[in-house]
Amino acid sequence: MAVEVRRRVPAPHAAPRGRGTGEKGRVQAGDALPLPIRHTNLIFSALFAASLAYLMRRWREKIRTSTPLHVVGLTEIFAICGLVASLIYLLSFFGIAFVQSVVSNSDDEDEDFLIASGQKPAPAPQQCALLQSAGAAPEKMPEEDEEIVAGVVAGKIPSYVLETRLGDCRRAAGIRREALRRITGREIDGLPLDGFDYASILGQCCEMPVGYVQLPVGVAGPLVLDGRRLYVPMATTEGCLIASTNRGCKAIAESGGASSVVYRDGMTRAPVARFPSARRAAELKGFLEDPANFDTLNVVFNRSSRFARLQGVKCAMAGRNLYMRFTCSTGDAMGMNMVSKGVQNVLDYLQDDFPDMDVVSISGNFCSDKKSAAVNWIEGRGKSVVCEAVIREEVVRKVLKTNVQSLVELNVIKNLAGSAVAGALGGFNAHASNIVTAIFIATGQDPAQNVESSQCITMLEAINDGRDLHISVTMPSIEVGTVGGGTQLASQSACLDLLGVKGANRESPGSNARLLATVVAGAVLAGELSLISAQAAGHLVQSHMKYNRSSRDMSKVA
Ligand code: ADP
Repeated sequence: MAVEVRRRVPAPHAAPRGRGTGEKGRVQAGDALPLPIRHTNLIFSALFAASLAYLMRRWREKIRTSTPLHVVGLTEIFAICGLVASLIYLLSFFGIAFVQSVVSNSDDEDEDFLIASGQKPAPAPQQCALLQSAGAAPEKMPEEDEEIVAGVVAGKIPSYVLETRLGDCRRAAGIRREALRRITGREIDGLPLDGFDYASILGQCCEMPVGYVQLPVGVAGPLVLDGRRLYVPMATTEGCLIASTNRGCKAIAESGGASSVVYRDGMTRAPVARFPSARRAAELKGFLEDPANFDTLNVVFNRSSRFARLQGVKCAMAGRNLYMRFTCSTGDAMGMNMVSKGVQNVLDYLQDDFPDMDVVSISGNFCSDKKSAAVNWIEGRGKSVVCEAVIREEVVRKVLKTNVQSLVELNVIKNLAGSAVAGALGGFNAHASNIVTAIFIATGQDPAQNVESSQCITMLEAINDGRDLHISVTMPSIEVGTVGGGTQLASQSACLDLLGVKGANRESPGSNARLLATVVAGAVLAGELSLISAQAAGHLVQSHMKYNRSSRDMSKVA
């Protein structure tokens, strides 16, 4: 789902340029920032209206007095010039943006239809440069599999061209696998080959396949969340994890359910650009963060997608390098591709007016993707969610086998103080990443994003005179989507369907992805509740010995 876009030579501007923002690139140190484009729009709109009104009045008078229309005075000539100039401006400003949005959106339409209708998009090998035959052996592909295998083993046929050259993904995987067996001398019989649709991954999910890994999927639930009863699919090989989450779900359900709120929703991408001086970098920072320039950036950013909508830009500096963190909403997609395209639009747009800007990378790590970073913990990335529940005293006693006071105390000493002692960054929880990762794998999310998606602070309080327990998990950067990437594959899409969030939400784009984020937080709440309880009651080791350790003597297993 997340593909880093390589830096490329800026394309010529097609966005509204030089109209009202014509001066914006020529910012000198100490100069005021350029006139905002919306002021220019207003001026030209007013000029258009005034010229039109004046000419209409004059023409009405001429018709009344039978004066020929082509006899014009100086003021009329000015009015006609004003009308034409403002018309050209307004047409080029709004017309070009409109045409571009129609053109770029039409690309999405086909995909939307396929996603919404539950069909998988046709494999598109041309999407992936690695799959193109550039650099491939020019010679004709032999007809027999045996000859092709020999060609791959001898290095005469590049392994990566098999899909495109054979036009049969299953056959390509089989040939590659046999070549691998011969090259390494290792059997990989345990890795299944058949029973998988290799065409569905071509050009978007996995290159050079030789089989697939089987992972068991279990369900925890019902998770009673915001009035829904959900069965949460989790792909894991860690014994006890689903059982424990299931116990947490039971405690939540018996206490009346949990509720959640998505308090922020925006994917980020932060390119880095180098300038001749820190002063110049600061000038662009000032421009990007000036609210008066938001409308301009918004038009430019949004033009590559119907779903990506710019929310804001925050910049950080390191010497003469500027890191620009763009945040945008992304509908039901996790959104890395979308936000990257929008950012590229803006960089192209800025390059003319900041010719000394050297874009070092579309991603400068201030985003911050798949790395532990304070910026996500503080500013959020993806969906920021709080999920909470009140667990009744008798449920704590009967289901969780502990008491409220022990839970609250353990949470302070372990999840808050203990994590502080460890110097944790967003790790103020017992095992959020266990649940996040299992759901991510089951539902086709990018598992590497568990790094920031698992950031979580778990809070426990005794309420109602100390009888009941208030528990909450706050997760500022859950990065999930229900379209794009691995979500389209058959198994993952079935798991999304189980939760009722498969594909794009047509009525309210983005609500499927937001619902999925709340499910992640709700399941984390259940997992936290159960594990902290097990530790408070001293049951952890016993239950792991029961569920996580097979009684089979592994030394006797072949
Ligand atoms: P990502 O940006 O997460 O990597 P992709 O670019 O792979 O996602 O996939 C998103 C695609 O799905 C886009 O082409 C977009 O136009 C399409 N799409 C269809 N419906 C929606 C929706 N409701 N929300 C977001 N994207 C949608």
